[in-house]
Amino acid sequence: MSNHLFDAFRARVTAPRRLLMQTDDGRSLTYGDMLARSAQLAHALVQSGVAPGDRVAVQVEKSPEAVLLYLACLRAGAVFLPLNTAYTLPELRYFFGDAEPRLVVCDPARAADIGPLAQASGAALATLGQHGDGSLPESASGNQADFDDVARGPDDLAAILYTSGTTGRSKGAMLSHENLASNARVLVEHWRFSAEDVLIHALPIFHTHGLFVATNVILMAGASMLFEARFDPVRIVSLLPRATALMGVPTFYVRLLQQQGLDAQAAKTIRLFISGSAPLLAETHAAWRERTGHAILERYGMTETNMNTSNPYDGERRAGTVGFPLPGVSLRIADPDGGGSLAQGEVGMIEVKGPNVFAGYWRMPEKTKAEFRPDGFFITGDLGLVDRDGYVHIVGRGKDLIISGGYNIYPKEIEGEIDALAGVSESAVIGVAHPDFGEGVTAIVVRKPGSAIGAADVLDAIAGRLAKYKHPKQVIFVDELPRNTMGKVQKNVLRETYRDLYG
Ligand code: ATP
Ligand code: MG
Repeated sequence: MSNHLFDAFRARVTAPRRLLMQTDDGRSLTYGDMLARSAQLAHALVQSGVAPGDRVAVQVEKSPEAVLLYLACLRAGAVFLPLNTAYTLPELRYFFGDAEPRLVVCDPARAADIGPLAQASGAALATLGQHGDGSLPESASGNQADFDDVARGPDDLAAILYTSGTTGRSKGAMLSHENLASNARVLVEHWRFSAEDVLIHALPIFHTHGLFVATNVILMAGASMLFEARFDPVRIVSLLPRATALMGVPTFYVRLLQQQGLDAQAAKTIRLFISGSAPLLAETHAAWRERTGHAILERYGMTETNMNTSNPYDGERRAGTVGFPLPGVSLRIADPDGGGSLAQGEVGMIEVKGPNVFAGYWRMPEKTKAEFRPDGFFITGDLGLVDRDGYVHIVGRGKDLIISGGYNIYPKEIEGEIDALAGVSESAVIGVAHPDFGEGVTAIVVRKPGSAIGAADVLDAIAGRLAKYKHPKQVIFVDELPRNTMGKVQKNVLRETYRDLYG
C-alpha cells in the first residue's frame, strides 16, 4: 500500500548494502538493515496496540534505533512525537496529557519514574536505551523483517513536534507526510545532496533540525551519516576528513573555531557547511571563511514550517542573512497589525505559505486560527526585511521587539553595534519594564576573555551611531548568555532575571 513519506525514502534505497549511518560507538547500519529493522519495530508497535493515527511519545537518548522507531511509526501509520531528553516529569505530564499517546517509549533508566505517568494518561510503556537495549527492540527482534506499510496519504499526520519553548510554552505542531516529504525533497536538490554524501550528524534528534532537516535529507538522498551521540568539537574536527557536509547550530561553529586543528586542510573533503536554528553572527561567518576557505550557508526554518529560506548553493552566501525563499515557498513581509504586504526594505512580520507549512497546532484551534491569515499565510512571529537583492534578513522575534517611549526598537540593530566592539564577545538587548519609558532598553553583554571593556565604553561607542532613543539605559556584564539545547538565547529568562531593574 502506499505510504507517502516512507515510500519516498524507500525509493532511494538502491542497494541494501549501502551505509546509512555509522555511530561513534562503532556500530553501522545499512539501508537494508533500516528496511528490515524498521519493519520489525513496526510489528512491535502494532503488538503494543498502536493503531493508525495513534501518537507514540518518545523520550530517548540519540541512537540509530531512535531513528528506526521514527520510521517504524511512519510505516505503522502512527504519529511520531519526539520529546526533548531534558524534559522533567512535570513537563512530561503536560505533554502526555496534551497528546494522549497510545504508547510512551522512554529510556530504561527512567522507566520506573515515567511508567506511572504513562499509565495515568492511558498509554502503554516500552523502553529503548542508547545502545539498542530495552523492551521495544527486544520484542521487535523476533518479528518478521517485512511489514505491510499502512496506507498514508500526503495530508495524513506523520509527526507532532513541539516547538522549542523559547518564547513561551511549547506548542505541538502537526506535520503531515507531505510537509516533511516536500521539504526534504527541496533541500536535497537545493543543497545538492547525493548518495555520495556523508553528513556529520551531531544534533539532537528530538528537534526539527536534527530530525527533519538532517535525517530526512540523508534518507531522501540515499546518503549516509556519521551519527554522533553528542557534539564534541575535538571529535568533529577529527571526523571532517571522512565527511562531505556538516549541519550545525551557530554554537557548533563558534566552538569549532576554538579548535587548533580546524583549517582548510582539515576541511578539504567538505563541500558544504550549513547553519541554522539561531542567528549566525557575521563575525563567525567571516572567521570560518578565513580559517577553512568555506562560506557557511545559513538557512531559516521553524518547527511549524520546516525550512523556509536558504542562502544559495551557487552564488553569494550573504553573512547576516538567511537567503531566499526555497522553491515552492512564498514569503512576504507584512504589517504586523493589519496584515498586508509592506514595501521592499521595510521591517515587518515574516509570513510564509507552501507545502512545508504545518496543518495547525495540536488541539489548539483558536491559536491555529490566530496564527494564519485568511489567505493561508502563516504568521511566523519573526520580524524581518527583504533587501534590494532579495535576501531575507531576520531582525528578531516579534516578542522581543522593544517599545520604549513610544518607539519601536529592534534589539538586533543595537546588538550588532555592541558585538562589533573589540572587547565584546556577544550581547543580548532586551526591554525591561520602566516607569517613564514603558520599556527600558537594556544590554546584557559578554566580554571577550581578557577584555576590560566597561559600560561607559559601550555607551560611548553607540552614542555616535544610533539615535538616542535606542541607547541602553543600562549595560550589564555577564559571563555567558542563557541558551537552550539548540543554542538559542533565552531572552525570556533574561527578562525575568532583570524584571525589577528599573522598578
Ligand atoms: P517557541 O516557538 O516555542 O517559542 P522556537 O520558536 O525557538 O520556540 P523552533 O521552532 O525550534 O522554536 O525555532 C524556530 C525559530 O528559530 C524561528 O522562528 C526563528 O526565530 C529562529 N531561527 C531559526 N533559524 C534562524 C536563523 N538562521 N536566524 C535567526 N533565527 C533563526
Ligand atoms: Mg516559535
